[in-house]
Amino acid sequence: MLGALAIFGAVASYGAPSPRDYPFKPVPFTAVHLHDIFWAPRIETNRAVTIPFAFEQCEKSGRMDNFERAAAALKGEALANKRMPPYPFDDTDPYKVLEGASYALAVQPDPRMEAYLDELIAKIGRAQEPDGYLYTARTIDPEHPHRWAGRERWVRDPDQSHELYNAGHLFEAAAAHYQATGKTNLLAIATREADLLCKTFGPDQLHIWPGHEIVEMGLVKLYRATGNGRYLELAKFFLDVRGPGGDDYHQSRIKPVDQTEAVGHAVRAGYLYSGMADVAALTGDERYLKAIDAIWENAVGKKLYLTGGIGAMGAGEAFGRNYQLPNLTAYCETCAAVANDYWNLRLFLLHGDSRYIDVMERTLYNGLLSGVSLDGKRFFYPNPLESDGRHERSPWFGVACCPGNMTRFLASVPGYVYAQKGDALYVNLYAAGAADIKLDNGQTLKVTQETRYPWEGQVRITVTPPKAARFAVLLRIPGWARDEAVPGDLYHFADRTDDRVSLKVSGKSVPVKLEKGYVRLERKWKPGEVVELDLPMPVRRVAANEKVADDLGRVALQRGPLVYCVEWPEVKGGQVANLLLPDEARLSASFRGDLLGGVETISGNAVSLRYADARQKIERSPVAVAAIPYYAWANRGRGEMSVWLANKEEAARPLPFPTLASTSKATASAEGVRPDTRALNDQREPKSSGDHANRFVHWWPHKGTKEWVQYDFPKPARVGAVEVYWFDDTGVGECRLPKSWQLFYHENGEWLPVKNPNEYGCAGDRYNRTTFETVETDGLRLELQMQERFSAGIHEWRVEPAER
Ligand SMILES: [Zn+2]
Repeated sequence: MLGALAIFGAVASYGAPSPRDYPFKPVPFTAVHLHDIFWAPRIETNRAVTIPFAFEQCEKSGRMDNFERAAAALKGEALANKRMPPYPFDDTDPYKVLEGASYALAVQPDPRMEAYLDELIAKIGRAQEPDGYLYTARTIDPEHPHRWAGRERWVRDPDQSHELYNAGHLFEAAAAHYQATGKTNLLAIATREADLLCKTFGPDQLHIWPGHEIVEMGLVKLYRATGNGRYLELAKFFLDVRGPGGDDYHQSRIKPVDQTEAVGHAVRAGYLYSGMADVAALTGDERYLKAIDAIWENAVGKKLYLTGGIGAMGAGEAFGRNYQLPNLTAYCETCAAVANDYWNLRLFLLHGDSRYIDVMERTLYNGLLSGVSLDGKRFFYPNPLESDGRHERSPWFGVACCPGNMTRFLASVPGYVYAQKGDALYVNLYAAGAADIKLDNGQTLKVTQETRYPWEGQVRITVTPPKAARFAVLLRIPGWARDEAVPGDLYHFADRTDDRVSLKVSGKSVPVKLEKGYVRLERKWKPGEVVELDLPMPVRRVAANEKVADDLGRVALQRGPLVYCVEWPEVKGGQVANLLLPDEARLSASFRGDLLGGVETISGNAVSLRYADARQKIERSPVAVAAIPYYAWANRGRGEMSVWLANKEEAARPLPFPTLASTSKATASAEGVRPDTRALNDQREPKSSGDHANRFVHWWPHKGTKEWVQYDFPKPARVGAVEVYWFDDTGVGECRLPKSWQLFYHENGEWLPVKNPNEYGCAGDRYNRTTFETVETDGLRLELQMQERFSAGIHEWRVEPAER
């Protein structure tokens, strides 16, 4: 089997040859051995830490047990526990980690892991119904399946049963496991289910489209693994049966071939577009190609974060409107970043243009990698571009899609480095390592890269054919190295650089002439010839298209492929939102081996803004700051972070002027939901009650309860009025204006209601002022009653000291 491995790729054909396929093929990850300073240690952490950890979490959370219980039910055993899995897609988490573990095994044999996988596969197999159906959320108790599933199989898939989603992830895992080990145990389970799907769905059979796409890609992988053309036909059927009449969330309002805009749930969308690329490549159907090209222009031109993340909105985990790219609330699900890279790689394989690799690289090094902590055991689900301290990685999630996706993606990174077509080798990513390559024309060669990329841009590539031979090596010149932040005009470099890319072959300078983003070196290569590429990496300032309201008056920093952020430990006082980075501030880069596993930092002087009086006069003082690569944030506790730094004063949020409120200790009820009480007295003015980008206190998911916030004054003070600005996210979330509220003051260890309050206003979009009989006290407590079935929140709570 090992001999055949060499021709396997992340998406390249294996099994029976296809008459038609992607014109470009990735060099499979099994042929690329990285020993670089960046990816190799991460891939090893993924293999040695994250994969075992994720399996352990799957076990602890009962995901493996679901298969056992389904198996027992199939044997007719009376189950003591017929409880449904919390989510009907819980089966996919073990599948994804299994896929990641398979890739890891292909690179580094591990008999214990291999045995564990075999045991797990047997367990999965026992949960499969005799006709091939595999879905524990029904099999455990067919009379009472999961509430998201229908009484009958499949019928609720377009909505939310996820039966076909589970099948898709099973197919992906099975193809990877077969590819990595040559064993057919998981493949047999997958093909049994795929055969059932072929009997069930089709032009003359059931017309149902998958609610959560991925089965299309999965079927294509099974087709490649087995050569069974029915799987490819079914993948195409699932694309063709989709829409119209559905909704944007599911990309089914109109037919996929008619779509021109990236809409709806971003992970589903990315998987759909990847499936369309696969089917377009394998069938030659140009309609899919036309659609995904148009969708890509929209996504990259109007809906892509600088970090390469997609899916701006938490509501629906979805793409927002054009240019709607909030930073603090950016959703950017880790899985959506993975899907974005799958899609962009496929577009490259169709078009051979480096702009897709530019997007892929941006996502890979930034918004995808940020999804896992440096130690490999904590994860982000959303990957925001700004934090006020509310964000923190988590060891696992109830909906645990992201960690599993990280395990399978990281393990396959070497498969993204090279591609080939005919007699040409494409170098897409730069990373130290060696690769054994066989071109389509039969030419073999060894390629090695020596480089400190992404920290330094010098790359030394040695090309070694067995004997002198003519072929082409195409080097990708990344967009960032030729003054293009992204393809399109969503972002641009806001500063100038005179640094230019330079290139030498065997010591002789070669002009950097670009063809679809590549320099083509076509010549007779002698064994051991050396290419020296120098991609200068000055610190660059990036600005967004002015239509992106959230980035107005701001710049971001980028060096090489890495997007930077300023995080709280890198600035005295730990505050970031108040910083102003003037355009003329000099910035310099230096490597710090002791920091965050070794990172290049960017440092310089910024200006700290502070309100000098109650009338908001601004005081400015210089402050030294350093920026770190975005992917490395949130490894040192919670606090402020921002990718986009104010370079115009209006965009900064000055530090509060010391008031009775701002110097008080703020606390709140419901510690379980950890209300962020710093919001109460930070003097950050909301634009409206619904201003999600402003920091606020909330008690969600508590609903209809009575809650409180409290100020403990630094010393007793006379007070006679307060003002409160309520939070209300009608249309987005479940917080509403409160039903009522009341104010108490502290006296002799008791909370007493203030006397003669004029009113307790519950109006939105403004401060509600309450005056009362002046009292001397060391604290105030605001108690609110939520509306029934709704939660509540507060943007700001001011306290007015009384005149003496
Ligand atoms: Zn996810």
